[in-house]
Amino acid sequence: MKSYKLLTPGPLTTTDTVKRQMLFDHCTWDDDYKQITQEIRRGLLELAHVQPEEYTAVLMQGSGSFGVESVLTSVVGDGDELLICANGAYGERMTEIARHAGMKYHVYNEHYNRVPNAQKIGEILDADPAITHVAMVHSETTSGILNDIEAVGKVVKEKGRVFIVDAMSSFGGVDIPVKAWGIDFIISSANKCIQGVPGFSFIIARRDLLEQSAGKARSLSLDLYDQWKTMEIDGKWRFTSPTHTVLAFAQAMRELAEEGGIEARNKRYTENNRLLIQKLEEMGIRPYIDGTHQGPIITTFFYPEPCHFTFAQMYEYIKDRGYAIYPGKVTEAETFRIGNIGEIYQEDIEKVCAVLKEFLEEYNHEEN
Ligand SMILES: *Cc1c(COP(=O)(O)O)cnc(C)c1O
Repeated sequence: MKSYKLLTPGPLTTTDTVKRQMLFDHCTWDDDYKQITQEIRRGLLELAHVQPEEYTAVLMQGSGSFGVESVLTSVVGDGDELLICANGAYGERMTEIARHAGMKYHVYNEHYNRVPNAQKIGEILDADPAITHVAMVHSETTSGILNDIEAVGKVVKEKGRVFIVDAMSSFGGVDIPVKAWGIDFIISSANKCIQGVPGFSFIIARRDLLEQSAGKARSLSLDLYDQWKTMEIDGKWRFTSPTHTVLAFAQAMRELAEEGGIEARNKRYTENNRLLIQKLEEMGIRPYIDGTHQGPIITTFFYPEPCHFTFAQMYEYIKDRGYAIYPGKVTEAETFRIGNIGEIYQEDIEKVCAVLKEFLEEYNHEEN
């Protein structure tokens, strides 16, 4: 099998040193292993700029969606009501989670190329005192838009509600001062900007609010409070943990620090992203999100006009030359996506853009 680098928003391309950690079969009740979990939890709080007296970190088996489902179904109680602010598929997934759990929820839908409006959210909260929790996505991977959680957090706090953020594809790649932005629960996963491999999600939570959620969970495996209570004892996970993923993640966190922390990683991602957009615009390919709201993680592009090729042709051509790209996900336009996170550098962006240029010259003619 020919190898390729991933220009997708997670799983993403990891370093060999991260992958090599997985060659060891660690024992789950061993003290060394439990310490690794505890170090990860402490490190996550530092990345979030919060204090262990006020916030805590919980690791949860499964992909990112398991983490989102764990928070929503454990924290929003039977008498509570949730407002979901959605401008893409991941916001919509939260409504699916709420619906499956039989929760009381409201949806504020925004167009995929617009950010949810903080003032409007304030008005919705004023008009409906029954709403207790507000949830939204930070980096909507559907389009690549970066939502203004700082402005929304301010409003949610002013109105005295609980704020839940899905920062899956931004945490570690975009700096988020969790407390200062009024966030009570924030969710991300091992295989996004920290650059680990898939296997668990993590939640950074306000301790007092987590305490209050005892007994509210609608599911056993995804009970956030129970997971925390067990992990808090000595770092042992409640059920079998993804040991290889945990070891790889601990290494990924060390490598994030070596790179210079979130600031340095954000700089690399942002430069990758700008170069990508600039090079594609030179080929007549425009981004779907305008410059002010485009995030540094992934970009949605319109096909060039006229277009005489399919996504499958483009994908195969680029994959044969060392890179995997992503199909589009926005509903109203024909698009494709290119991610620029993971072990990806300017030279990768230069290379994939050169391959794409060659592809367009070969394929974008009438006769195709
Ligand atoms: C990746 C991602 C998720 C989680 O998706 P999984 O497939 O469950 O890992 C959730 N929200 C956002 C914004 C994401 O980018």
